[in-house]
Amino acid sequence: AADAALYAAKLSGRNRFYLFDDDLSARLEMRRDVERDLARALGDREVEVWFQPVMADGGSRFGGFEALVRWRHRKHGWIAPQELVATASLAGLAEPLMRFILGEVCAMIRALRSAGHDGVRVAMNVSPREMSQIAVDDLVLKELRRRGAPPAMLEIEITEETALDIQAVQGKLTALSEAGVRIAIDDFGVGYSSLGALRRLRVDRVKIDRCFVEGIAASSENRMLVQAILRLGEAFGFEVVAEGIERAEDFATLKALGCPAMQGYYFGRPAPAEEAFLRLESGEAARRRLKTER
Ligand code: C2E
Ligand code: MG
Ligand code: MG
Ligand code: MG
Repeated sequence: AADAALYAAKLSGRNRFYLFDDDLSARLEMRRDVERDLARALGDREVEVWFQPVMADGGSRFGGFEALVRWRHRKHGWIAPQELVATASLAGLAEPLMRFILGEVCAMIRALRSAGHDGVRVAMNVSPREMSQIAVDDLVLKELRRRGAPPAMLEIEITEETALDIQAVQGKLTALSEAGVRIAIDDFGVGYSSLGALRRLRVDRVKIDRCFVEGIAASSENRMLVQAILRLGEAFGFEVVAEGIERAEDFATLKALGCPAMQGYYFGRPAPAEEAFLRLESGEAARRRLKTER
């Protein structure tokens, strides 16, 4: 029996080694393929930008969208957005990727505006590396102007990590915010961010990370945490968005706490631009119809 156990341990050890080895080379291969195919995929519009609704007024009203990049690679399937963005940066394609995303975002902004959605915004993520690698302020403001999209309808989401490197990003963020673009801190609570940075960066919104929102109805700790962030928002003058709401009871809890903005599968999953826009319009139309029928 002892021999058998030893043998099993050796075997599993070896298996684990092989698994790891396979994993690693698969990963490297994926990186290489992704890097090789990305420029073409951007040109062919194989890379897409999807949109997820963000709710305002305590979840009762549509407040805009968050843009989320999507790429289904022919061989490797869906590529994680973080992986895609990181690879683009390594491959020197950060700028073309961001220009492409901005184009889609501007198109959505214009569509929302012409459909009469006032006071809504479209949010776009910018990674720390993109933030330092690219002249994001110039690129964003140029694209907005070129495509006739009002800066006040755009929101840039940066992570706490970016906010900490205040020296490197403050100039760019100030330029954006002076032009009317909103600044949001994403995934708040999981990284380090000094409260001073929040103030100096003129943050408009803070998005509480999903891990504090998930199951909040059943967690008094998470409730207290969200309450504290809401108070912080009142004191510092930023709006709080809770992300990752999947269940009715979590929505109800956040509503009771007075959380102003919310996002999550409960309200709508990310969808291709057309579908996201149509869903919104049919929802609106249905509501209007209901109103007139009443
Ligand atoms: P994020 O900015 O925090 O985006 C929210 C993520 O949570 C998205 O994942 C979204 O699909 C997902 N999500 C939204 N609601 C729910 C929910 O109720 N439950 C669960 N389980 N998940 C929910 P996604 O699209 O996979 O993106 C992951 C991350 O990749 C993003 O996190 C963002 O950091 C980054 N990312 C996505 N698109 C872009 C982009 O265009 N540029 C850059 N730089 N980063 C991006
Ligand atoms: Mg985000
Ligand atoms: Mg987030
Ligand atoms: Mg995230």
